[in-house]
Amino acid sequence: MPELKVTPLGAGQDVGRSCILLNMGGKNIMLDCGMHMGYNDERRFPDFSYISDGPLTPFIDCVIISHFHLDHCGALPFMSEMVGYTGPIYMTHPTKAIAPILLEDMRKVSVEKKGDQNFFTSQMIKDCMKKVIAVTLHQSVMVDNDIEIKAYYAGHVLGAAMFWIKVGSQSVVYTGDYNMTPDRHLGAAWIDKCRPDLLISESTYATTIRDSKRCREKDFLKKVHECVDRGGKVLIPVFALGRAQELCILLETYWERMNLKAPIYFALGLTEKANNYYKMFITWTNQKIRKTFVQRNMFDFKHIKAFDRQFIDNPGPMVVFATPGMLHAGLSLQIFKNGLPTKIT
Ligand SMILES: [Zn+2]
Repeated sequence: MPELKVTPLGAGQDVGRSCILLNMGGKNIMLDCGMHMGYNDERRFPDFSYISDGPLTPFIDCVIISHFHLDHCGALPFMSEMVGYTGPIYMTHPTKAIAPILLEDMRKVSVEKKGDQNFFTSQMIKDCMKKVIAVTLHQSVMVDNDIEIKAYYAGHVLGAAMFWIKVGSQSVVYTGDYNMTPDRHLGAAWIDKCRPDLLISESTYATTIRDSKRCREKDFLKKVHECVDRGGKVLIPVFALGRAQELCILLETYWERMNLKAPIYFALGLTEKANNYYKMFITWTNQKIRKTFVQRNMFDFKHIKAFDRQFIDNPGPMVVFATPGMLHAGLSLQIFKNGLPTKIT
């Protein structure tokens, strides 16, 4: 059997900075290009000097990105625009649409708030995204005459994919985070029956049993309900894109079922933009949402409205979603100072 070599430039024994170099049949394929959220120095990006001290184009045949989380794509503009890579980059359509929003948000925090130097610019994010070739699920893509790739649904977040990669007689399946059970807004991972020579999988929570989601959700709804019943205000800091959508759906359904009247607001910003992407890519969500979509778009929430600053002083109960970044300087802080008795994390 021809040699198959795997070199983790990130992740490996670590959480974050997923970046795996796969060498098969004489081809070099980079699987994910993430950043480490725990570092502010050069360790935040994979050490590309392992591959070359100069531009990487002659040494890498293609880059494949599994999903939009920054620990999987956060180093991409650095790699392509600063280290130098002009070859093909593959990801799904939703990932291509959402990744630049997260990259720009992270850049702003790093450069404008923390004063980081040697960081990519907004223009570099744009130039990097121009190199991206968006793929559709189950579509066989020939990278060159020898490399064939195919994306499969992974659940986890909108657009997340596993990739089947074939070079010559060998094949590898690579997956970042994936979900085997459908959640409130996404379906379960699925792949064709296959016999890869190697399976590379994310395993961060592989040996952890997390509390039942249903219990946590019930607990969450109970706390929110109690608070608004007392006439209180609830501030929910949400950042993770998928989580925000899930909580919106959860509250929306609960409000409908319990016939609650307290207003729910969604602070404008990152997640609102993302909400629109969920609407655009409704076919990527789970079957239940897709069915509802035939009657009305599930993401056009009946009880959840965009938040306006003038609502801050409104008397009576309310629930507000805002991003944690806003807790430091922005909207959340202002709402918080205006006497929010309850905060749920
Ligand atoms: Zn992820």
